[in-house]
Formats: sequence, structure tokens, C-alpha cells
Amino acid sequence: MDELRRPVLRISRSQLVHNIAAVQKQLAPSALMLVMKDDAYGHGVDTVVDAALVQPGVALFGGYDVDTSLQIRSRAGSGARVFAWAIARDEEIRRALREGIELGVGTSSYLERVIVVAAAEKQTARVHLKIDTGLRRNGIRTEEWPDFVARAVRAQFAGVLSIVGVWSHLAEASDAEDDVSASEFAQAVEIVRAAGADPASLHLTASAASWWRPELRGTVCRVGAFCYGIRSAEGPEIPGIRPIATLESRVLAAENDVAHIGIGALHGLPSTLGGAPVATLGGQRELLRIDAVTSAVRGWEGMRVGDTVRIFGPGDHGEMDATSLAERNDTVGEEILTRLTERVRRVIEDGDGERVG
Ligand SMILES: *Cc1c(COP(=O)(O)O)cnc(C)c1O
Repeated sequence: MDELRRPVLRISRSQLVHNIAAVQKQLAPSALMLVMKDDAYGHGVDTVVDAALVQPGVALFGGYDVDTSLQIRSRAGSGARVFAWAIARDEEIRRALREGIELGVGTSSYLERVIVVAAAEKQTARVHLKIDTGLRRNGIRTEEWPDFVARAVRAQFAGVLSIVGVWSHLAEASDAEDDVSASEFAQAVEIVRAAGADPASLHLTASAASWWRPELRGTVCRVGAFCYGIRSAEGPEIPGIRPIATLESRVLAAENDVAHIGIGALHGLPSTLGGAPVATLGGQRELLRIDAVTSAVRGWEGMRVGDTVRIFGPGDHGEMDATSLAERNDTVGEEILTRLTERVRRVIEDGDGERVG
């Protein structure tokens, strides 16, 4: 009974492998950095790393924080490059340096801490310097960039740092703004070169700009969503790419033209999804109400306890994709996935039978 009650996120490993290859082909000759934050957008770091290493394979991973990056390192082995851009505590920096994790540095105080820890550890920290090109999250303002770069280059000459990258993050609010950001970015790279460093990894685009705006690509593109088959909110379908995950729940009780299914708010299903269409064996039906651990769905002819209801997925059974659900809530598809809790069982399908994640 417990297994029946538990919702399942079914993840197609072959579709993930396929999406990653399609993204790599689209971006070439730029390299893909596969972004893995929030447990690989809710799909599971280990699962995604395994699929990413299928040939030709991903060489560069974006772990966001040090813990995720270390998990990637242990799964992917020493051959992969792993990039962590969340500001880390000294102890995390220490562990990151020992495991060869590359660090994104976008504040002067963080740069100083990385230098101190690297010197104490007798390590050379591989860093990507972050310029703020308008998003105002973190990143060095244009006015402060030359001094910041000079400090980093001095540390590089001292052997404590190696400046392997320059990066920024686009607002993606409008093409015109992104163009301005891209030209600020190019100037920032020039300043780094003039100061005597020669970083090979230049990156500022995420999924949408990497895919649709080739002129903005650096030598590296940081892509998460599209690899998982999540299209942008209000964005078009991506040719050759499909969602890798299907969220399924079972009917626990069927009465009075209502099916009660075993997924609710405590599984991470947003309670605002009431009214959304879900796929049942009788076709699309309205999700009437989301409760704590169950939800109500408009019934269908012949419905039975144990029937599968699909909340989102690639659409093979009439279910919507995660982004379509998200659009009803003015959010993004990845938000629907990353909110799913541990109560949702992850099942990985790899063609030769299934494996419980
Ligand atoms: C999440 C994130 C990305 C990936 O964005 P997608 O739209 O999922 O491809 C890239 N860069 C940074 C800094 C991010 O935080």
C-alpha cells in the first residue's frame, strides 16, 4: 500500500543523454557546463552525472555550492572539471581546493579569503572572476574591475591563484540589454588580458541565450534547464529536446466522479495548481484541489484504485510539460521540479529495466 501511495518521478536516462548531446551539438564549438544546482534540478546529482559521462560526455559541471560540487567530483572522478560559484566558508574552500574544484569569485572579500586559504593550504586556487554586467546579484562592478583584476593577477604571479575563467550572468530581460551586457563582458575580458592573465573559460549565457543567441556564447555555456528538457517560461519548444521526467501518482480512492490521488502539497506539489489539466486513463481531467498528501481529480469512466495519473511529463500520455504548469503560476518549470520533496520516489529508467533512485 505504501508503494502505491507514494508518487514517482520517472526519469528517462536515455532522454537525458539525448538532450545533453543535442545541447552540445547546438553550442559547439563552445563547451557545455552542465548546471546541477538543487540536486540537478530535482533529478538527482548521481543520476545526472552518470548520464552526462556517456560518450562523448560532459567535461565541465556547474555545482553551484561546494557540497554539490564535491558530490559531482566523487561521482564523476578526477577527470571532470567542476565549478562552484556560491560564496563558500573557509572550511568549504579548503575542501574544494583539495578536490580541485574551481571557484567563482565575485566579491573582493571572497577573493581575499580564497587567497588566504590557498596560501595556507599550499594550493593554487583555480578561479573564475565574475564581472557584474547588470544583474546586480554578485559580481564586481565595472568601476572596481581593474583593481580587482590587478589583485587577482598579483596572486597568480605569486602562485596562489590561477585565473582560468571570466564569467557573468545575463538578465535575459531583453535582447538589447543582453547585448549591452555582452559588450561590457568583452571589455572586462580585455582588461584581464591586458593585466597579464589569459583565462580560457569565458561564460555568460544560460539555457535560453546559449541556445538562441550564438553571438553571445563564450567558450563555455552554463546550461541546466534545457539539458533536463525544461523549456523557458513563455518560450518555444526546443527542437530535438524533450522533458526527461514524468511525475506520476496513483488513484487511492474513486467516488462520486472524483479520483483521489496520492500526491499533495507535502510532496511539493504547489497548492496553486488547482484547475490544471492532468493526464488520466480517461484523457485530460481537471486537478480540482491539492490537499496535504492527496489531491482530487475530476473522475473518468471506468476509473479504478491504482490507476496512474500523470501530473507533468513529455506529453506522451496527454500530460502537460512542467513549464506549462509553471506558467499558470507565473513561475518557471524548474521550480516545479526542484520543489518536489524526498517523499517523491525517483525511479531511473535506463532501457534495460528500472532502478530505484
Ligand atoms: C541556474 C544557473 C544557470 C543555468 O540556467 P538554466 O536557465 O537552467 O540553463 C546558469 N548560470 C547560473 C549562474 C545559474 O545560477
